Amino acid sequence: MPERVVVVGAGVLGLSCALRLLEAGHRVDVLARELPLETTSAVAAAIWYPYLALPQDKVAAWGATSYDVFARLAGDPATGVSLRRGTELLLAESGDPWWVSAVPALERVAPVAPYRDAWSFVTPVIDMPRYLVWLHDRVLDAGGTVTRMALAALPEGPLVVDCSGLGSRHLADDPTTTPVRGQVVVLEQIGLEEWWLAEEGPTYVIPRTHDIVVGGTDDAGEWDRTPSPATADDILRRAIALVPDLAAARVVRHKVGLRPARSEVRLERVGDVVHCYGHGGAGVTLSWGCAAEVAALADAVRA
Ligand SMILES: Cc1cc2nc3c(=O)[nH]c(=O)nc-3n(C[C@H](O)[C@H](O)[C@H](O)COP(=O)(O)OP(=O)(O)OC[C@H]3O[C@@H](n4cnc5c(N)ncnc54)[C@H](O)[C@@H]3O)c2cc1C
Repeated sequence: MPERVVVVGAGVLGLSCALRLLEAGHRVDVLARELPLETTSAVAAAIWYPYLALPQDKVAAWGATSYDVFARLAGDPATGVSLRRGTELLLAESGDPWWVSAVPALERVAPVAPYRDAWSFVTPVIDMPRYLVWLHDRVLDAGGTVTRMALAALPEGPLVVDCSGLGSRHLADDPTTTPVRGQVVVLEQIGLEEWWLAEEGPTYVIPRTHDIVVGGTDDAGEWDRTPSPATADDILRRAIALVPDLAAARVVRHKVGLRPARSEVRLERVGDVVHCYGHGGAGVTLSWGCAAEVAALADAVRA
């Protein structure tokens, strides 16, 4: 019997869960205070990369599922997903990262000074504004609805999926979800194909089809969503040190997002509510793996 499910939140988690629930035969209505392009998810750079999200074993498994889905979506330009090679630079010699099993291949490469280690791998790059529009349209095509609504509390059942990100502080009465502020500068595309990540900063340069996102910052506990000009200058300085050609790129816009950080991602069913929030700096990276688990928990409720 199809069940009616209310999904709270229209970020990458809410929309991915909604689509998987619709595919499983449920009737799905998404309610959200911010619509997709207004969410933190729309600010994400976004690259497949497990960052500021735990526990490691679950993050590696959810990440591996998502990697496979994104790799398939990369075959369709309408999704805004592409597969790109890039390089991560580390300040100290290091063993393989804990998430290595989630990517098809990780190659050691020569680091550039002042870095002491480096590896290169192919990973999905997701142009979030385009991807969220594509995902939203898939939810509607599958018969779901997306409605703007600021909720004072989680709705009554029959089944609610809580993808409220930082909103979980209030809706799930969970003060352990806290903001980690991230500021980025969006540059015009100048023909850059490969991404770069560097431990110092951290600094990242993520080329998308029509622009390049450079960052970043990770200020824990900071709620200020106004871009800081001094921080933008520092981000640009670090990015240009990494990729000197960026000095010629025009600045298109500045953005800030608040990552919903938590000691561990909360993905569990409590009665008629499935909570799915606290994905920190990896909500895109974990989205399809978590959505599959949410759909399985919803079926368990239905059974
Ligand atoms: C600068 C930056 C760069 C990033 N880069 C990456 C990256 O490269 N790769 C990656 O995987 N991740 C990245 N992230 C992290 C990623 O953006 C987040 O983990 C992800 O967006 C979380 O998604 P979400 O759907 O849980 O939350 P959100 O996108 O915040 O959506 C939450 C939804 O809940 C709704 N909501 C909240 N409270 C209420 C309420 N009371 N009533 C109704 N609705 C409510 C909101 O309106 C919204 O629709 C980055 C983040 C930032 C800030």
